[in-house]
Amino acid sequence: MTETEILIIGGGIAGASTAFHLAQYGRQVTLLERGEIASEASGVNAGAIGAIGWGNVPDLESHLTMGSLEIFKSLQIELSYDIEFRRSGSLQAIQTEAEYAFIQERVIALRSQGYTVDLLTTREARTLEPGISPALLGCLYMPMRAQADPKKATQAFATAAKRSGARLLLNHEVTGIHAHDDETYEVETTRSPCRAATLVIAAGAWCGGIGAMLGLRIPIVPVRGQMWASAALPPRVFHTISAAESALQWHIAPGNNDDTPPDLTHRGDQRVTRHLYGRQTRAGEIIFGGDRQLVGYHKIPDPAGIKVNHGHAAEVLPFLCELPIQRTWAGLMPFPLDGMPLIGQNAQ
Ligand SMILES: Cc1cc2nc3c(=O)[nH]c(=O)nc-3n(C[C@H](O)[C@H](O)[C@H](O)COP(=O)(O)OP(=O)(O)OC[C@H]3O[C@@H](n4cnc5c(N)ncnc54)[C@H](O)[C@@H]3O)c2cc1C
Repeated sequence: MTETEILIIGGGIAGASTAFHLAQYGRQVTLLERGEIASEASGVNAGAIGAIGWGNVPDLESHLTMGSLEIFKSLQIELSYDIEFRRSGSLQAIQTEAEYAFIQERVIALRSQGYTVDLLTTREARTLEPGISPALLGCLYMPMRAQADPKKATQAFATAAKRSGARLLLNHEVTGIHAHDDETYEVETTRSPCRAATLVIAAGAWCGGIGAMLGLRIPIVPVRGQMWASAALPPRVFHTISAAESALQWHIAPGNNDDTPPDLTHRGDQRVTRHLYGRQTRAGEIIFGGDRQLVGYHKIPDPAGIKVNHGHAAEVLPFLCELPIQRTWAGLMPFPLDGMPLIGQNAQ
């Protein structure tokens, strides 16, 4: 039986970073991961890091985004882990008059609240990102946004946690949890059992199942995200790139209800919008994705969705039209049903 003060379930970026920070505070930490570190969403995502500044009155979102940005910076710079972090800035393509009016209003509101965003003409945007289409109506520029290699970043947190004294137990799948009267938890795994005073549930899209082991309802559902990559090219795309279409659609109709989180690209099989994000990796691949679909725990990419996404990316960066897709992949994103972060002590 492994005895520990704090037991973390899940070795994605949430679990690995929690292990690192708790170990830094001198807490006794053990992390249980059923596979390898970063074997799910944290190893396959686009690596785009969102941030638009602290604002005049920092709110929860500013703390989470700007706080993360600082943590990624120190991982790369002070702690010397090469996670391919780069404050690249981000351009969001505006393709219709309705999108332009929406983004213009957003930029005015955000700037008045002290956030760092700008509305660029297409001509101005092309001086930053020469490959973007002259047919765009403009771009939302977010210079604080950044990028990093997601697998390297997650593995760096895990290595830093280990160096700070955390114990990482890989290939340990949690299969059952018993809450004892003495306020400790006994956790069964596919290997040896563990006992802890505090449990941290960081199991991503699988949080619901872990919660059920304790009789808790954790309102997180798996949403499939999928991506494609080109062959490696010389540097061609310098920012993270997105498009305003989904932002406007989700502003008008977030689409959530008791069983469905907001901000999905599909209702059932029906597409409601096209979502787009991507960048060029240090190795030279151009990677893009965007679809967010409720398909249970199914992780095979849908070729029709990949084709739509490739077409959308080529509308923004026309040179992609001629560039064949080399590989595709998918992963499961943990989406809370109310769209809000789920952090802190469980009230149940
Ligand atoms: C295609 C795609 C693109 C994305 N792009 C971006 C992006 O550009 N920017 C961004 O910010 N976010 C992006 N995301 C979302 C981001 O990847 C996730 O929000 C994030 O990785 C979630 O981290 P996590 O640690 O909570 O979950 P995960 O990385 O899924 O980690 C959960 C871990 O728990 C483990 N686990 C589950 N059950 C058990 C069990 N019973 N016992 C032990 N271990 C268990 C799993 O094996 C897994 O390793 C994207 C996601 C996808 C899929």
